Amino acid sequence: MPGGTDQTLRPFLWRAERMHPDVEIVSRTHDGIERYDYAEFGGRVARLANALDEAGISDDARIGTFCWNHHRHFETYFGVPDSGRQLHTINPLLPDEHIQFIVENASDELLFVDPSLLEKLAGAADPDAFASVGQFVVMGEQVPETDLDATDYESFIAGRSDEYDWPTLSEDRPAGMCYTSGTTGKPKGVEYTQQMLWSHTMATLTPQGLGLDDTDVVMPVVPMFHVNAWGMPFTATAAGAKHVYPGPSPDPADLAALIEEEGVTITAGVPTVWLGLLEYMNDNEVDLSSLEQVIIGGSAAPESVVRRFDELGVDVLHAWGMTEMSPIGSVARLKDGMDEWDDSDRYAKRAKQGLMVPGLEFKVIDEGGDEIEWDGEEFGELWVRGPWVTTEYFERPEANEEDFEDGWLKTGDVVSVDPDGYIEIVDRAKDVIKSGGEWISSVELENALMAHDDVSEATVVGVPHERWQERPVAFVVASEERESLKDELLDLVGEDYPKWWVPDDVLFIDEVPKTATGKFSKKDLREEYSDESLIAGKAPEEAAPESD
Ligand code: ADP
Repeated sequence: MPGGTDQTLRPFLWRAERMHPDVEIVSRTHDGIERYDYAEFGGRVARLANALDEAGISDDARIGTFCWNHHRHFETYFGVPDSGRQLHTINPLLPDEHIQFIVENASDELLFVDPSLLEKLAGAADPDAFASVGQFVVMGEQVPETDLDATDYESFIAGRSDEYDWPTLSEDRPAGMCYTSGTTGKPKGVEYTQQMLWSHTMATLTPQGLGLDDTDVVMPVVPMFHVNAWGMPFTATAAGAKHVYPGPSPDPADLAALIEEEGVTITAGVPTVWLGLLEYMNDNEVDLSSLEQVIIGGSAAPESVVRRFDELGVDVLHAWGMTEMSPIGSVARLKDGMDEWDDSDRYAKRAKQGLMVPGLEFKVIDEGGDEIEWDGEEFGELWVRGPWVTTEYFERPEANEEDFEDGWLKTGDVVSVDPDGYIEIVDRAKDVIKSGGEWISSVELENALMAHDDVSEATVVGVPHERWQERPVAFVVASEERESLKDELLDLVGEDYPKWWVPDDVLFIDEVPKTATGKFSKKDLREEYSDESLIAGKAPEEAAPESD
């Protein structure tokens, strides 16, 4: 027998409004800090839903946002899906062609846009690609000078009722949408149904997930345009926790001030954000005493960051996920008894991508199509399935064929699994380097290089090679570019890895190119350095395992 209602987001807001009406939502905006409580939030969400109806927006419309993390953006997180519509968050850092493709592909009817991003959006707003967009609403109290026909948000919702007759929705109803940043090819749309967002929220609420509760003060630094800020606005609401939104382009000083002044207990973001904060703390006094946990994901959390936060009394939780997974898949929590382990074993475990959260299943498939042993040594491609994992891309049958099979998502991440069930990413499938038919893990080489004090960023890509198909070449950002550093780095890799893994060259660059989500873009480097002559004559005589 099915339960009495479908799994939808509405009860989370209902509960927060009724059971935690006085809990605060704090937001850093262009105009300073704004704050209100769940009671007022609920009223404004209803006003927004009424405004959308009265503006003639279809009751199942897709609505885009082009915004940083703030309270108005948060209002769309409930006002849009609870009224039956679909919230499509757009990454404003994408190139114009991607924005045009995404808006056209999603047929957004209305776009919410931040004042500071208005010019960028107007520049991308090609009339053909944006033909579906009937209205632009600027997130503030006025509209800056623009060619777009726009209204300001406060006028848009002003005078509407703060009661709304919320529809009973089916859990299959599309509620959200996000495009993967497309490190290869065009961005791919992922739709989130009500049920996917509901189940992701419930799983991340558990202690085996993120474990939030109403004593928490939650600050998502991960952008709300990137997979729903890892679902935290929903999870924090379900928990009745206080929210803190860091606003447009927050710098380390802004984050430090919010942590201190608002008593943030849990925050989340990609590693570069935390490297920035820690660097800022070298020269500035910051009181982190309220902070209990930093969730790090999106890219591997460097062990040095985990250790540094530990010294500051802050626990790091390393998490892995994907746009296709709403996004959280695994977290590196220690199991019962592991607390007793010695330091290096504990850190090694916590630096892994960790244990799947309850509700998901995975398997790891090697090149021959067999499941690997969970011995921490063998590796293959990680496949996952579960209630919040998508089974298709939006209108992309060719990509569906490649990335899904029998309800499983083929993640493209190459992993090993240890006997305790912790997964560890060895590489992304397309970044694996193949020398003489054998895999070399670019991730491991990068970690080895980044362990050198003079190296701030390092990435390793496969450059085509006539004899060995590919050979690794390292690209390094260093504080000092001296010839001897190159030798030191190659020796460093040589200490821990077989000869044939040692890069054929180390090239110094000013900065590693980044994708719109802040990850290293190996595609750009690969294109730039696709010329074999670059490493001609540099490969070792035997660049395959037999040579060892
Ligand atoms: P995009 O693919 O658009 O860059 P996603 O957020 O969907 O954005 O990226 C998902 C990928 O990011 C994963 O498949 C994995 O390769 C990488 N990733 C995410 N979290 C981690 C992590 N904790 N450690 C290493 N890689 C990670």
